[in-house]
Amino acid sequence: MVNASGQGEGAPIAVIGAGFAGASAALSLADAGRRVLLLEAGPLPGGRARSFLDPRSGLELDWGPHLFMRANPAIREFLERIGASPQLRFDRSLDLTYRLADESAPGGLRRERLAFPGRGGVLGALWGLFRWRGPNATARISILKGLARLLRESPPSGAGGETVDRLLAGLGQGEPERKWFWEPFSRAVLNVRMEEGSGDLFRRVVAEAFGAGPSGAALGSPGVPMGPFWGDRACDAIRRRGGEVRMGAAVRRIRVEGGVVRGVILLGGELLEAARVIAAVPPPALLGMLPDEIRGLRPWSELSRLKPGPIASVYLWLDRPEPGPAFEAIMNEPWQWLFRPRYPGEEDTPIALLCGGADSLAAASRDEMALSAERTAARIFPGAGIRRVLVVRERAATWATGVGEQAWRPAAKTPVEGLILAGDWTATQLPATCEGAVRSGIRAAEVALAPTAV
Ligand SMILES: Cc1cc2nc3c(=O)[nH]c(=O)nc-3n(C[C@H](O)[C@H](O)[C@H](O)COP(=O)(O)OP(=O)(O)OC[C@H]3O[C@@H](n4cnc5c(N)ncnc54)[C@H](O)[C@@H]3O)c2cc1C
Repeated sequence: MVNASGQGEGAPIAVIGAGFAGASAALSLADAGRRVLLLEAGPLPGGRARSFLDPRSGLELDWGPHLFMRANPAIREFLERIGASPQLRFDRSLDLTYRLADESAPGGLRRERLAFPGRGGVLGALWGLFRWRGPNATARISILKGLARLLRESPPSGAGGETVDRLLAGLGQGEPERKWFWEPFSRAVLNVRMEEGSGDLFRRVVAEAFGAGPSGAALGSPGVPMGPFWGDRACDAIRRRGGEVRMGAAVRRIRVEGGVVRGVILLGGELLEAARVIAAVPPPALLGMLPDEIRGLRPWSELSRLKPGPIASVYLWLDRPEPGPAFEAIMNEPWQWLFRPRYPGEEDTPIALLCGGADSLAAASRDEMALSAERTAARIFPGAGIRRVLVVRERAATWATGVGEQAWRPAAKTPVEGLILAGDWTATQLPATCEGAVRSGIRAAEVALAPTAV
Protein backbone atom coordinates (compact mmCIF):
# COMPACT_ATOMS: atom_id res chain seq x y z
CA MET A 1 0.00 0.00 0.00
CA VAL A 2 2.85 2.40 0.81
CA ASN A 3 5.67 2.56 -1.69
CA ALA A 4 9.38 3.04 -1.06
CA SER A 5 9.17 6.82 -1.09
CA GLY A 6 6.54 6.63 1.61
CA GLN A 7 3.78 7.95 -0.67
CA GLY A 8 0.59 5.94 -1.09
CA GLU A 9 0.12 4.53 -4.58
CA GLY A 10 -3.60 3.99 -4.66
CA ALA A 11 -5.01 4.40 -1.17
CA PRO A 12 -6.17 7.89 -0.20
CA ILE A 13 -5.19 9.89 2.84
CA ALA A 14 -8.10 9.55 5.25
CA VAL A 15 -9.01 12.57 7.35
CA ILE A 16 -11.30 11.90 10.31
CA GLY A 17 -13.56 14.79 11.38
CA ALA A 18 -15.01 17.64 9.30
CA GLY A 19 -14.43 20.48 11.76
CA PHE A 20 -12.12 23.37 10.86
CA ALA A 21 -9.02 21.20 11.49
CA GLY A 22 -10.07 18.24 9.34
CA ALA A 23 -11.59 20.38 6.59
CA SER A 24 -8.46 22.55 6.28
CA ALA A 25 -6.22 19.44 6.24
CA ALA A 26 -8.38 17.83 3.53
CA LEU A 27 -8.45 21.02 1.46
CA SER A 28 -4.65 21.41 1.64
CA LEU A 29 -4.17 17.77 0.57
CA ALA A 30 -6.64 18.06 -2.28
CA ASP A 31 -4.91 21.28 -3.35
CA ALA A 32 -1.63 19.37 -3.41
CA GLY A 33 -3.22 16.85 -5.77
CA ARG A 34 -3.48 13.99 -3.25
CA ARG A 35 -6.41 11.60 -3.07
CA VAL A 36 -8.26 12.51 0.09
CA LEU A 37 -11.21 10.98 1.90
CA LEU A 38 -12.86 13.15 4.59
CA LEU A 39 -14.95 11.12 7.05
CA GLU A 40 -17.44 12.83 9.36
CA ALA A 41 -19.55 11.00 11.95
CA GLY A 42 -22.31 13.61 12.05
CA PRO A 43 -24.90 14.42 9.40
CA LEU A 44 -23.39 17.88 8.75
CA PRO A 45 -19.89 19.34 8.56
CA GLY A 46 -18.58 22.03 10.89
CA GLY A 47 -17.87 20.24 14.18
CA ARG A 48 -18.19 22.64 17.08
CA ALA A 49 -18.55 25.50 14.59
CA ARG A 50 -21.65 24.06 12.92
CA SER A 51 -25.27 25.15 12.67
CA PHE A 52 -28.46 23.16 13.14
CA LEU A 53 -32.08 23.48 12.13
CA ASP A 54 -34.41 24.60 14.93
CA PRO A 55 -37.64 22.88 13.86
CA ARG A 56 -39.92 25.15 15.89
CA SER A 57 -38.78 28.44 14.32
CA GLY A 58 -37.61 26.91 11.05
CA LEU A 59 -34.37 28.86 11.52
CA GLU A 60 -30.87 27.53 11.12
CA LEU A 61 -29.04 28.49 14.31
CA ASP A 62 -25.39 28.20 15.26
CA TRP A 63 -24.25 25.66 17.81
CA GLY A 64 -23.09 28.73 19.67
CA PRO A 65 -22.22 32.12 18.10
CA HIS A 66 -18.65 32.56 16.86
CA LEU A 67 -16.40 35.60 16.42
CA PHE A 68 -13.29 35.79 14.26
CA MET A 69 -10.37 38.17 14.59
CA ARG A 70 -8.92 40.10 11.68
CA ALA A 71 -5.33 39.33 12.70
CA ASN A 72 -5.92 35.56 12.25
CA PRO A 73 -4.23 34.76 8.94
CA ALA A 74 -4.91 31.01 8.63
CA ILE A 75 -8.67 31.11 9.07
CA ARG A 76 -9.00 34.12 6.80
CA GLU A 77 -7.03 32.44 4.05
CA PHE A 78 -9.05 29.23 4.48
CA LEU A 79 -12.33 31.16 4.24
CA GLU A 80 -11.00 32.96 1.18
CA ARG A 81 -10.11 29.67 -0.54
CA ILE A 82 -13.58 28.23 -0.03
CA GLY A 83 -15.30 31.47 -1.10
CA ALA A 84 -16.75 32.37 2.33
CA SER A 85 -14.89 35.66 2.90
CA PRO A 86 -17.55 38.01 1.47
CA GLN A 87 -19.93 36.92 4.21
CA LEU A 88 -17.55 37.67 7.06
CA ARG A 89 -17.79 41.30 8.10
CA PHE A 90 -15.11 42.78 10.32
CA ASP A 91 -15.37 46.04 12.22
CA ARG A 92 -12.82 48.67 11.16
CA SER A 93 -10.90 48.17 14.38
CA LEU A 94 -11.58 46.82 17.85
CA ASP A 95 -15.05 48.17 18.56
CA LEU A 96 -16.73 46.81 21.63
CA THR A 97 -19.89 47.96 23.36
CA TYR A 98 -20.22 47.13 27.04
CA ARG A 99 -23.66 46.81 28.49
CA LEU A 100 -24.48 46.85 32.17
CA ALA A 101 -27.53 47.24 34.34
CA ASP A 102 -27.19 50.47 36.37
CA GLU A 103 -30.09 51.81 38.40
CA SER A 104 -28.62 55.31 38.46
CA ALA A 105 -28.50 55.47 34.63
CA PRO A 106 -31.48 56.53 32.47
CA GLY A 107 -33.63 53.47 31.71
CA GLY A 108 -31.62 51.47 34.29
CA LEU A 109 -29.03 50.64 31.67
CA ARG A 110 -25.52 51.89 30.93
CA ARG A 111 -23.64 51.40 27.68
CA GLU A 112 -19.96 52.14 27.17
CA ARG A 113 -18.10 51.87 23.92
CA LEU A 114 -14.42 51.12 23.41
CA ALA A 115 -13.71 51.88 19.77
CA PHE A 116 -10.26 52.29 18.29
CA PRO A 117 -9.91 54.12 14.97
CA GLY A 118 -9.03 52.00 11.92
CA ARG A 119 -5.58 53.61 11.65
CA GLY A 120 -3.20 55.39 13.91
CA GLY A 121 -1.09 52.89 15.87
CA VAL A 122 -0.31 54.14 19.37
CA LEU A 123 -1.97 57.52 18.78
CA GLY A 124 -5.10 55.76 17.58
CA ALA A 125 -5.07 53.53 20.66
CA LEU A 126 -4.69 56.60 22.87
CA TRP A 127 -7.62 58.30 21.16
CA GLY A 128 -9.81 55.19 21.59
CA LEU A 129 -8.96 54.93 25.28
CA PHE A 130 -9.44 58.68 25.80
CA ARG A 131 -13.03 58.50 24.59
CA TRP A 132 -13.85 55.34 26.55
CA ARG A 133 -15.94 56.05 29.66
CA GLY A 134 -15.74 52.54 31.15
CA PRO A 135 -12.90 52.49 33.70
CA ASN A 136 -11.46 55.72 35.11
CA ALA A 137 -8.60 57.62 33.41
CA THR A 138 -5.88 56.08 35.61
CA ALA A 139 -7.02 52.57 34.72
CA ARG A 140 -7.22 53.45 31.02
CA ILE A 141 -3.64 54.70 31.00
CA SER A 142 -2.56 51.64 32.95
CA ILE A 143 -4.21 49.39 30.31
CA LEU A 144 -2.31 51.15 27.56
CA LYS A 145 0.97 50.83 29.45
CA GLY A 146 0.33 47.16 30.24
CA LEU A 147 -0.52 46.43 26.61
CA ALA A 148 2.60 48.23 25.37
CA ARG A 149 4.80 46.31 27.82
CA LEU A 150 3.25 43.00 26.89
CA LEU A 151 3.92 43.68 23.21
CA ARG A 152 7.45 44.93 23.83
CA GLU A 153 8.76 42.39 26.28
CA SER A 154 9.65 38.90 25.18
CA PRO A 155 8.27 36.23 27.52
CA PRO A 156 10.57 35.46 30.46
CA SER A 157 12.47 32.23 29.80
CA GLY A 158 10.98 29.23 31.54
CA ALA A 159 7.67 31.05 31.88
CA GLY A 160 5.70 27.98 30.80
CA GLY A 161 3.98 27.87 34.17
CA GLU A 162 2.71 31.45 34.31
CA THR A 163 -1.05 32.00 34.51
CA VAL A 164 -2.84 34.97 32.91
CA ASP A 165 -3.40 36.26 36.42
CA ARG A 166 0.35 36.26 37.16
CA LEU A 167 1.16 37.74 33.78
CA LEU A 168 -1.18 40.66 34.43
CA ALA A 169 0.13 41.14 37.96
CA GLY A 170 3.62 41.43 36.44
CA LEU A 171 2.29 44.11 34.10
CA GLY A 172 0.88 46.08 37.03
CA GLN A 173 -2.75 45.53 36.02
CA GLY A 174 -5.20 46.11 38.87
CA GLU A 175 -8.88 45.30 39.39
CA PRO A 176 -10.54 47.87 37.08
CA GLU A 177 -8.11 47.15 34.23
CA ARG A 178 -8.84 43.43 34.54
CA LYS A 179 -12.59 43.83 34.85
CA TRP A 180 -13.01 46.11 31.85
CA PHE A 181 -10.32 44.98 29.45
CA TRP A 182 -8.31 41.87 30.28
CA GLU A 183 -10.95 39.61 31.77
CA PRO A 184 -13.44 39.73 28.84
CA PHE A 185 -10.55 39.34 26.38
CA SER A 186 -8.91 36.48 28.27
CA ARG A 187 -12.17 34.62 28.82
CA ALA A 188 -13.10 34.95 25.17
CA VAL A 189 -9.84 33.47 23.92
CA LEU A 190 -9.05 30.95 26.67
CA ASN A 191 -12.49 30.08 28.06
CA VAL A 192 -11.10 29.51 31.57
CA ARG A 193 -10.58 31.74 34.59
CA MET A 194 -7.50 33.97 34.54
CA GLU A 195 -6.14 32.06 37.57
CA GLU A 196 -6.02 28.89 35.43
CA GLY A 197 -5.43 30.12 31.88
CA SER A 198 -2.02 29.86 30.24
CA GLY A 199 -0.23 33.23 30.22
CA ASP A 200 1.86 32.08 27.23
CA LEU A 201 -1.21 31.38 25.10
CA PHE A 202 -2.78 34.67 26.08
CA ARG A 203 0.40 36.63 25.39
CA ARG A 204 0.62 35.09 21.92
CA VAL A 205 -2.97 35.99 21.03
CA VAL A 206 -2.59 39.55 22.31
CA ALA A 207 0.66 39.94 20.34
CA GLU A 208 -1.01 38.69 17.15
CA ALA A 209 -4.08 40.87 17.75
CA PHE A 210 -2.37 44.16 18.61
CA GLY A 211 1.12 43.66 17.13
CA ALA A 212 0.30 45.74 14.05
CA GLY A 213 -2.03 48.22 15.78
CA PRO A 214 -5.54 47.84 17.18
CA SER A 215 -7.16 47.16 13.81
CA GLY A 216 -5.81 43.59 14.01
CA ALA A 217 -8.04 43.00 17.03
CA ALA A 218 -11.16 43.90 15.03
CA LEU A 219 -13.78 41.21 15.44
CA GLY A 220 -16.00 39.84 12.72
CA SER A 221 -19.10 37.68 12.58
CA PRO A 222 -20.63 35.93 9.58
CA GLY A 223 -23.89 37.18 8.15
CA VAL A 224 -25.27 33.64 7.70
CA PRO A 225 -25.36 30.49 9.86
CA MET A 226 -22.18 28.40 10.10
CA GLY A 227 -23.34 25.60 7.76
CA PRO A 228 -23.93 27.75 4.68
CA PHE A 229 -21.15 30.12 5.76
CA TRP A 230 -18.28 27.64 5.75
CA GLY A 231 -19.14 23.96 6.35
CA ASP A 232 -21.01 23.32 3.09
CA ARG A 233 -18.59 25.46 1.12
CA ALA A 234 -15.54 23.61 2.49
CA CYS A 235 -17.02 20.24 1.46
CA ASP A 236 -17.84 21.58 -2.02
CA ALA A 237 -14.31 22.97 -2.39
CA ILE A 238 -12.75 19.62 -1.39
CA ARG A 239 -15.01 17.73 -3.83
CA ARG A 240 -14.25 20.18 -6.65
CA ARG A 241 -10.56 19.38 -6.17
CA GLY A 242 -11.26 15.66 -6.54
CA GLY A 243 -11.59 14.78 -2.83
CA GLU A 244 -14.30 12.57 -1.38
CA VAL A 245 -16.41 13.68 1.59
CA ARG A 246 -18.61 11.24 3.49
CA MET A 247 -21.09 12.36 6.14
CA GLY A 248 -22.50 9.88 8.67
CA ALA A 249 -19.22 7.95 8.43
CA ALA A 250 -18.19 7.39 12.04
CA VAL A 251 -14.76 5.83 12.50
CA ARG A 252 -14.74 3.05 15.10
CA ARG A 253 -11.05 2.07 14.88
CA ILE A 254 -7.84 3.29 13.33
CA ARG A 255 -6.08 0.18 11.97
CA VAL A 256 -2.42 -0.06 12.95
CA GLU A 257 -0.22 -3.05 12.07
CA GLY A 258 3.42 -3.34 13.07
CA GLY A 259 3.51 0.32 14.13
CA VAL A 260 2.21 1.50 10.72
CA VAL A 261 -1.24 2.89 10.05
CA ARG A 262 -3.21 0.86 7.47
CA GLY A 263 -6.62 2.51 7.37
CA VAL A 264 -9.82 2.87 9.37
CA ILE A 265 -12.82 0.73 10.28
CA LEU A 266 -16.20 2.46 10.27
CA LEU A 267 -18.93 1.91 12.83
CA GLY A 268 -20.81 -0.44 10.50
CA GLY A 269 -17.66 -2.58 10.01
CA GLU A 270 -16.60 -1.20 6.61
CA LEU A 271 -12.84 -1.34 6.21
CA LEU A 272 -11.19 1.56 4.36
CA GLU A 273 -7.52 1.40 3.40
CA ALA A 274 -5.53 4.59 3.77
CA ALA A 275 -1.93 5.57 3.06
CA ARG A 276 -2.06 7.99 5.98
CA VAL A 277 -4.70 8.87 8.56
CA ILE A 278 -5.16 12.37 9.93
CA ALA A 279 -7.25 12.19 13.10
CA ALA A 280 -8.88 15.63 13.53
CA VAL A 281 -11.24 14.76 16.38
CA PRO A 282 -11.22 15.86 20.04
CA PRO A 283 -9.18 13.81 22.58
CA PRO A 284 -11.93 11.48 23.90
CA ALA A 285 -13.01 10.53 20.36
CA LEU A 286 -9.38 9.88 19.40
CA LEU A 287 -8.76 7.71 22.46
CA GLY A 288 -11.87 5.68 21.58
CA MET A 289 -10.60 4.84 18.08
CA LEU A 290 -7.02 3.90 18.96
CA PRO A 291 -6.09 0.20 19.00
CA ASP A 292 -5.99 -1.16 22.59
CA GLU A 293 -2.31 -2.08 22.38
CA ILE A 294 -1.10 1.51 21.85
CA ARG A 295 -3.59 3.45 23.98
CA GLY A 296 -1.47 3.05 27.11
CA LEU A 297 1.68 4.44 25.44
CA ARG A 298 2.82 8.05 25.12
CA PRO A 299 1.56 10.47 23.87
CA TRP A 300 -1.85 8.75 23.97
CA SER A 301 -1.63 7.89 27.68
CA GLU A 302 -1.40 11.61 28.51
CA LEU A 303 -4.43 12.76 26.54
CA SER A 304 -6.76 12.39 29.50
CA ARG A 305 -4.82 15.23 31.18
CA LEU A 306 -6.32 17.68 28.68
CA LYS A 307 -9.45 19.33 30.03
CA PRO A 308 -12.54 20.57 28.20
CA GLY A 309 -14.11 23.98 28.83
CA PRO A 310 -17.90 24.45 28.50
CA ILE A 311 -19.80 27.18 26.67
CA ALA A 312 -23.55 27.67 26.93
CA SER A 313 -25.59 29.75 24.52
CA VAL A 314 -29.20 30.66 25.09
CA TYR A 315 -31.36 31.94 22.23
CA LEU A 316 -34.13 34.29 23.36
CA TRP A 317 -36.98 35.51 21.20
CA LEU A 318 -37.91 38.97 22.51
CA ASP A 319 -41.27 40.55 21.75
CA ARG A 320 -39.50 43.87 21.05
CA PRO A 321 -36.14 43.19 19.41
CA GLU A 322 -33.77 46.09 20.00
CA PRO A 323 -31.40 47.08 17.21
CA GLY A 324 -27.72 47.30 18.08
CA PRO A 325 -24.26 45.97 17.27
CA ALA A 326 -23.75 42.33 16.25
CA PHE A 327 -22.23 41.59 19.65
CA GLU A 328 -21.79 43.32 23.01
CA ALA A 329 -19.89 42.50 26.19
CA ILE A 330 -22.15 42.20 29.24
CA MET A 331 -20.76 43.30 32.60
CA ASN A 332 -21.65 42.07 36.09
CA GLU A 333 -23.86 39.20 34.88
CA PRO A 334 -23.37 35.44 34.62
CA TRP A 335 -23.90 35.77 30.83
CA GLN A 336 -20.90 37.50 29.31
CA TRP A 337 -21.83 38.18 25.69
CA LEU A 338 -24.88 39.28 23.78
CA PHE A 339 -25.12 38.36 20.10
CA ARG A 340 -27.57 39.61 17.52
CA PRO A 341 -27.42 37.13 14.69
CA ARG A 342 -28.56 38.88 11.50
CA TYR A 343 -29.58 36.58 8.74
CA PRO A 344 -30.87 38.10 5.53
CA GLY A 345 -34.56 37.52 4.92
CA GLU A 346 -35.23 36.36 8.51
CA GLU A 347 -37.52 38.69 10.43
CA ASP A 348 -37.88 36.87 13.69
CA THR A 349 -34.25 36.24 14.64
CA PRO A 350 -33.56 35.64 18.32
CA ILE A 351 -30.78 37.25 20.33
CA ALA A 352 -28.26 34.96 21.97
CA LEU A 353 -26.63 35.19 25.38
CA LEU A 354 -23.38 33.31 25.83
CA CYS A 355 -21.49 32.18 28.89
CA GLY A 356 -18.18 30.39 28.84
CA GLY A 357 -15.48 29.17 31.15
CA ALA A 358 -17.69 28.62 34.19
CA ASP A 359 -17.49 25.13 35.70
CA SER A 360 -20.97 25.62 37.14
CA LEU A 361 -22.30 25.62 33.57
CA ALA A 362 -21.43 22.02 32.92
CA ALA A 363 -23.32 21.01 36.06
CA ALA A 364 -26.40 23.27 35.74
CA SER A 365 -29.64 21.88 34.31
CA ARG A 366 -31.11 23.35 31.13
CA ASP A 367 -33.98 24.84 33.13
CA GLU A 368 -31.54 26.55 35.48
CA MET A 369 -29.61 27.98 32.55
CA ALA A 370 -32.80 29.18 30.85
CA LEU A 371 -33.96 30.89 34.04
CA SER A 372 -30.59 32.54 34.61
CA ALA A 373 -30.50 33.82 31.00
CA GLU A 374 -34.05 35.16 31.30
CA ARG A 375 -33.03 37.08 34.43
CA THR A 376 -30.03 38.60 32.69
CA ALA A 377 -32.18 39.48 29.66
CA ALA A 378 -34.73 41.14 31.93
CA ARG A 379 -31.98 43.33 33.43
CA ILE A 380 -30.30 44.29 30.17
CA PHE A 381 -33.54 44.67 28.17
CA PRO A 382 -35.76 46.29 30.82
CA GLY A 383 -39.43 45.87 29.97
CA ALA A 384 -38.96 43.45 27.07
CA GLY A 385 -41.11 40.30 27.02
CA ILE A 386 -39.52 36.96 26.24
CA ARG A 387 -41.52 34.68 23.95
CA ARG A 388 -39.24 31.68 23.81
CA VAL A 389 -35.95 30.38 25.20
CA LEU A 390 -33.69 27.73 23.64
CA VAL A 391 -30.60 26.44 25.44
CA VAL A 392 -27.59 25.08 23.53
CA ARG A 393 -24.83 23.72 25.71
CA GLU A 394 -21.46 22.37 24.58
CA ARG A 395 -19.63 20.79 27.51
CA ALA A 396 -16.39 20.48 25.51
CA ALA A 397 -16.38 23.76 23.56
CA THR A 398 -12.64 24.33 24.05
CA TRP A 399 -9.71 22.20 25.13
CA ALA A 400 -6.44 22.49 27.01
CA THR A 401 -6.13 26.22 27.63
CA GLY A 402 -5.04 25.80 31.25
CA VAL A 403 -1.47 26.52 32.23
CA GLY A 404 -0.82 22.98 33.44
CA GLU A 405 -1.99 21.32 30.23
CA GLN A 406 0.33 22.89 27.68
CA ALA A 407 3.07 20.27 28.08
CA TRP A 408 0.62 17.50 27.18
CA ARG A 409 -0.72 18.86 23.89
CA PRO A 410 0.65 16.45 21.27
CA ALA A 411 2.43 17.35 18.02
CA ALA A 412 1.01 16.50 14.60
CA LYS A 413 3.57 13.74 14.09
CA THR A 414 3.00 10.68 16.22
CA PRO A 415 5.08 7.58 17.00
CA VAL A 416 2.71 5.55 14.78
CA GLU A 417 3.93 5.76 11.19
CA GLY A 418 1.34 7.48 9.04
CA LEU A 419 -0.94 8.51 11.92
CA ILE A 420 -1.09 12.30 12.19
CA LEU A 421 -3.02 14.52 14.60
CA ALA A 422 -4.93 17.75 14.04
CA GLY A 423 -7.39 19.73 16.13
CA ASP A 424 -7.56 22.92 18.17
CA TRP A 425 -6.26 20.95 21.19
CA THR A 426 -2.99 19.78 19.62
CA ALA A 427 0.30 21.64 20.08
CA THR A 428 -0.50 24.72 18.01
CA GLN A 429 0.82 27.21 20.60
CA LEU A 430 -2.58 28.89 20.32
CA PRO A 431 -5.74 28.52 22.41
CA ALA A 432 -8.55 26.24 21.21
CA THR A 433 -9.97 28.51 18.52
CA CYS A 434 -10.91 28.23 14.86
CA GLU A 435 -7.56 29.82 13.96
CA GLY A 436 -5.70 27.18 15.97
CA ALA A 437 -7.79 24.42 14.39
CA VAL A 438 -7.06 25.61 10.84
CA ARG A 439 -3.34 25.99 11.56
CA SER A 440 -3.28 22.45 12.96
CA GLY A 441 -4.97 21.12 9.82
CA ILE A 442 -2.46 22.82 7.55
CA ARG A 443 0.41 21.45 9.63
CA ALA A 444 -1.08 17.93 9.56
CA ALA A 445 -1.33 18.09 5.77
CA GLU A 446 2.34 19.15 5.55
CA VAL A 447 3.34 16.19 7.69
CA ALA A 448 1.18 13.86 5.58
CA LEU A 449 2.81 15.11 2.39
CA ALA A 450 6.36 14.72 3.69
CA PRO A 451 8.20 11.68 2.25
CA THR A 452 7.93 9.87 5.56
CA ALA A 453 5.27 10.67 8.11
CA VAL A 454 7.02 9.20 11.12
C1 LIG B 1 -20.36 27.61 21.56
C2 LIG B 1 -18.98 27.77 21.02
C3 LIG B 1 -18.49 29.03 20.75
C4 LIG B 1 -17.20 29.18 20.24
N1 LIG B 1 -16.76 30.42 19.92
C5 LIG B 1 -15.60 30.56 19.26
C6 LIG B 1 -15.23 31.82 18.73
O1 LIG B 1 -15.96 32.80 18.87
N2 LIG B 1 -14.06 31.91 18.04
C7 LIG B 1 -13.24 30.82 17.86
O2 LIG B 1 -12.20 30.96 17.20
N3 LIG B 1 -13.56 29.62 18.37
C8 LIG B 1 -14.73 29.45 19.04
N4 LIG B 1 -15.10 28.22 19.51
C9 LIG B 1 -14.14 27.10 19.39
C10 LIG B 1 -14.14 26.53 17.96
O3 LIG B 1 -15.45 26.18 17.59
C11 LIG B 1 -13.25 25.29 17.93
O4 LIG B 1 -11.94 25.65 18.36
C12 LIG B 1 -13.12 24.69 16.54
O5 LIG B 1 -14.36 24.60 15.88
C13 LIG B 1 -12.51 23.28 16.68
O6 LIG B 1 -12.36 22.67 15.43
P1 LIG B 1 -11.74 21.21 15.33
O7 LIG B 1 -11.76 20.84 13.90
O8 LIG B 1 -10.43 21.17 16.04
O9 LIG B 1 -12.70 20.24 16.17
P2 LIG B 1 -14.26 19.93 16.00
O10 LIG B 1 -14.97 21.12 15.51
O11 LIG B 1 -14.69 19.32 17.29
O12 LIG B 1 -14.32 18.83 14.86
C14 LIG B 1 -14.18 17.44 15.10
C15 LIG B 1 -15.10 16.68 14.17
O13 LIG B 1 -14.84 15.29 14.31
C16 LIG B 1 -16.06 14.59 14.21
N5 LIG B 1 -15.90 13.27 14.82
C17 LIG B 1 -15.80 12.96 16.15
N6 LIG B 1 -15.69 11.62 16.29
C18 LIG B 1 -15.67 11.09 15.04
C19 LIG B 1 -15.58 9.74 14.55
N7 LIG B 1 -15.48 8.69 15.37
N8 LIG B 1 -15.62 9.55 13.20
C20 LIG B 1 -15.73 10.60 12.34
N9 LIG B 1 -15.84 11.89 12.78
C21 LIG B 1 -15.81 12.12 14.10
C22 LIG B 1 -17.03 15.49 14.98
O14 LIG B 1 -18.37 15.19 14.66
C23 LIG B 1 -16.59 16.87 14.49
O15 LIG B 1 -17.29 17.26 13.34
C24 LIG B 1 -16.37 28.04 20.05
C25 LIG B 1 -16.87 26.76 20.33
C26 LIG B 1 -18.15 26.62 20.79
C27 LIG B 1 -18.69 25.24 21.06
